[in-house]
Amino acid sequence: SVPLSFFGGIGGASKQGILIKGGNYMEALAAVDTVVFDKTGTLTRGVFQVAEIRPVGMAEKELLELAALAESWSDHPISRSLKEAYGGELDRSRVGEAEELSGRGVRVQVDGRSVCAGNRKLMEEMGVSCSESAAAGTERSAGTIVHIAVDGAYAGHIIIADRPKPDAGEAVARLKERGIRTVMLTGDSRAAGEGAARELGIDQVCTELMPADKVDKVEELLGQEPKRGRLAFVGDGINDAPVLSRADVGIAMGALGSDAAIEAADVVLMDDKPSKLDIAIRISRKTIVIVK
Ligand code: ADP
Ligand code: MG
Repeated sequence: SVPLSFFGGIGGASKQGILIKGGNYMEALAAVDTVVFDKTGTLTRGVFQVAEIRPVGMAEKELLELAALAESWSDHPISRSLKEAYGGELDRSRVGEAEELSGRGVRVQVDGRSVCAGNRKLMEEMGVSCSESAAAGTERSAGTIVHIAVDGAYAGHIIIADRPKPDAGEAVARLKERGIRTVMLTGDSRAAGEGAARELGIDQVCTELMPADKVDKVEELLGQEPKRGRLAFVGDGINDAPVLSRADVGIAMGALGSDAAIEAADVVLMDDKPSKLDIAIRISRKTIVIVK
């Protein structure tokens, strides 16, 4: 039988916008000693602003329009920002077959041409070599780079910048005060990932990961000796449902998260604030002490 005070703890948490799906997850939360965060949309706002447009052989406006058209079917935060930066109406009749390649970008037919928009990994996969200026930009910039190719030819890139959520640094600091190790996993570039980790005070960061690599990383952390406490993974739900279910406690952001992620998660932070995690741990630890 479930001790009554678990209900008290779960009720208290829900008043703070923290949904805990059972007493067993409270116990796990109380024993967490490693928190693994996804970056985009979890620690960062997931709202990118276009910082620079660098076309090759076309006008800036044309490259932005092409990118926005290519991204017209995607719900990824990067896609939303490109469409917003373009601003105008998009004629979706120009867009044919579209494919989202998770952790990499999109491949879409636009005006009968094959357009790819995404990271360096996607370009490599498509056999497109990024120009030298693009390579230099990638190394220098802490922003996220969206490369664009048309019919296999490099067409330039757009640099977009995301910012940490206002409470992200504080959220990490509170966990560290509790002696909890913090890790960040991201599919983003090394420059963007390491820059964000440094700014937030994250202990350990792994970049350029595919969604499946994130599962491997979590398994590696779970398997580390000596055996530690429990591991929590916090994600925004965009292609991280498999990691959410693999962690001891899978935590999803509620407002941004997809239904699939909310389903796969053990805990949901309704208002998308990473600082709610420390509150969830505090409530769980208190409740566990009462139960015992
Ligand atoms: P994170 O791991 O930070 O949460 P994702 O796994 O969602 O990020 O995406 C990883 C990387 O894949 C992004 O940084 C971006 O380079 C690329 N990417 C994913 N989806 C798109 C898209 N729709 N358009 C362009 N690039 C994308
Ligand atoms: Mg993500």
